[in-house]
Amino acid sequence: MFGWFRNKSIKRLRLMLASIKARDYSLHFNEQNLRGEELKLAYEINDTISEFRDTSRRIESQYGYLEALLNRSNTYLIVADDLGEVDWMSEAAIKGLCGFKIEKLKQLSVLNETLVQELESLSAGQQKLVSLMIKGTMVEWSISMTRYNRHGMDMKLFSIEDVQSVLRQNEVDAQKKLVRVLTHEIMNSLSPIISLSDTLNHSIEEGDIDKTDLQMALQAIYRRSQGLLNFVESFRKVSRVSQPQKEWVVLNDIINDLQQLFPNPAITFVVEDGTENILVDQSQMEQVLINLIKNAVEACNETPRPHIVVKTYSDRPNNRFYIEISDNGPGMPPDVAEQIFVPFFTTKSTGSGIGLSICRQIISMHGGRISVESKEGEGTTFKLMLNNY
Ligand code: ADP
Repeated sequence: MFGWFRNKSIKRLRLMLASIKARDYSLHFNEQNLRGEELKLAYEINDTISEFRDTSRRIESQYGYLEALLNRSNTYLIVADDLGEVDWMSEAAIKGLCGFKIEKLKQLSVLNETLVQELESLSAGQQKLVSLMIKGTMVEWSISMTRYNRHGMDMKLFSIEDVQSVLRQNEVDAQKKLVRVLTHEIMNSLSPIISLSDTLNHSIEEGDIDKTDLQMALQAIYRRSQGLLNFVESFRKVSRVSQPQKEWVVLNDIINDLQQLFPNPAITFVVEDGTENILVDQSQMEQVLINLIKNAVEACNETPRPHIVVKTYSDRPNNRFYIEISDNGPGMPPDVAEQIFVPFFTTKSTGSGIGLSICRQIISMHGGRISVESKEGEGTTFKLMLNNY
């Protein structure tokens, strides 16, 4: 039955299998001179090859799509094997690092020796912040590595992100939100002023005005104008945070002041080393901590057993220290947590919404960072990271 295979086409079949292995699906059996079972078998083989071809095209187009997607990211992405041979780089990585596709990870040492060491020492899933001198500029990069397996080979996907550019993008977003808040606040005051003065004007023209109505309308205009003035005043406070005058301060000096100001049994201070010296503007730092502790106390107003912890600890090798303020209040839903640093955002009926925005300005002017973690029903933690240089 398989005379055809034995006599004529064993060689061709071998060639076809080799091509399929090499992902070349262009060969096929000529079905013209075949009959019966041989013809059926040739059909099956040709069908299978065309199935392979379609699947391969689908995978290629998915791969192309993913590659295009990764190329749109500003993050530098590099795929390398365990020996450091680079297999792929995103367009941003090619442009932003050496200007060409490198063959080996080690070639990044032309930018900075430490960068290569830091990348090579990353374990899977680890993320690290590194400060490096690159092309004459000090940059702060967040680097991470993910492992995956491709065609049986262990590969590493490195990602390098410029923390400053992420921060800049966040600033642009924050400004947009601020403009929205300002417009809303100004329109809320101006619209009733315009409409009330227009009504008054008409009433006077028509000689139809009652003294009490006139007085009430003028009082409403006064209140709205006063509200606008207060708003502008608080805006001035937000936009005029002065440059910090940093000095070496003993941590305990700050902690003692806070303990005096908040003699509240619900607050616990956990200080790793109170004798430590930190480089800050003491009065600004106290302003930040007072605001955060006050917010924590207010958040716990309805909590049956309120507990607020102010914790300090340092990371000496990196010259950093941390202050955390945690509470077991109601926490925040994600849509609130996203906006709390936007000036004038508040969920309190008598809140001004400027506290956290000023805190963030002070901390970033110190070269540090403020972040928040909050879970509804569990509580909130604000974390300050400060550099001791
Ligand atoms: P204000 O206290 O005047 O509202 P802030 O800028 O200090 O202004 O705070 C903004 C908002 O952040 C608050 O209105 C509140 O919704 C939220 N917030 C701040 N701290 C906490 C906290 N510890 N727990 C829950 N929500 C908080």
